[in-house]
Amino acid sequence: MRPHNFSAGPAGLPEAVLERARAELLDFRGSGASVMELSHRGPVFMQLVEEIEARLRALMAVPDEYAVLFFQGGATLQFSTLVWNLIGDADGGDYVVTGLWSDKAQRVASALCEARVACSTQRPDGGFDRVPAPADIDIDPDAAWLHYCPNETVHGIEFPYVPDAGAVPLVADYSSSILSQPVDVSRFGVLYAGAQKNLGPAGITLVIVRRDLIRPPTPGTPAILSYAGQAGRDSMLNTPPTFAWYLLGLVLEWVEEQGGAEAMATRSQRKADTLYSAIDASNYYTNAVALDSRSRVNVTFDLAEPERVGAFVAAAESAGLLALKGHSAVGGLRASLYNAVSQQAVDDLVAFMTEFERTRG
Ligand code: PMP
Repeated sequence: MRPHNFSAGPAGLPEAVLERARAELLDFRGSGASVMELSHRGPVFMQLVEEIEARLRALMAVPDEYAVLFFQGGATLQFSTLVWNLIGDADGGDYVVTGLWSDKAQRVASALCEARVACSTQRPDGGFDRVPAPADIDIDPDAAWLHYCPNETVHGIEFPYVPDAGAVPLVADYSSSILSQPVDVSRFGVLYAGAQKNLGPAGITLVIVRRDLIRPPTPGTPAILSYAGQAGRDSMLNTPPTFAWYLLGLVLEWVEEQGGAEAMATRSQRKADTLYSAIDASNYYTNAVALDSRSRVNVTFDLAEPERVGAFVAAAESAGLLALKGHSAVGGLRASLYNAVSQQAVDDLVAFMTEFERTRG
């Protein structure tokens, strides 16, 4: 058996997906070539991307008024891409800052436009531990967008609600929680997500945009970063990352076989409940996030003896539990429970934690 992988990203892929990719590697659909070796504009690959879009639209119930686009450059490049595409004649957009990633998005945007902080939950000591109450988000009605991060991967903070931005388009960085539960796409102007946590490997980024927001970007914007340009050319203004796109398709097929976003939500909740219950029941492990803001998919935790974090990580690795070290910005430990992480993996982690607490490693 392969070890359990709790990496925050690039994250473990479902084993069935890896097996399928291996089986198809040398000859994709009878073409005599690997999917990596086919022209992206050829009929075999074009057929594949059509299937992938249809599958994604079905899994996320994406309304027809939304375009499904793929970009390179990760979620990070979308921080500026969204500014160039959405700003129009406005001065800028509003930001809800709840952790490292929404903070980064706001900082990148502030070099390009007015990126007003509509709300920040940062503590005086620099840390983050909760989402705001809906009423604390102070939206400028003239903002061209309101940006937030539904799940803060580093801090383990997740919104239990979708903010109401009124007439202002809501933009969400869904990188770490996409397809972990059903989402009402019609609430958003733009949703984007790097693939390497819940959708596939690194190298491809999903962007879902309401079509009325697709217009010519700010003059000077590189053509490949134009929503309009990519929408008009099947997200193929240049050579796309074909192998990553293919793997993303296999992951979507796997999610569909498992029962779709609803099934992922049920599993996610159960995995999170298992781990948080173990943390809460112990005096040795702690989680610092407000109860209503705890992430279902990135569980951050600390030890009563912080100096033993290294020993915990090393012992866990020897026990077949990989990548539990917290992000360097916050330290401590973090277990990422994305779709490919099984309930068994979480049960094994909890058993390990109990034993580590008892024996102190
Ligand atoms: N946003 C969030 C919520 C993330 O978790 C990450 C990556 N960990 C990023 C943005 C940055 O993504 P990328 O590395 O794909 O640019």
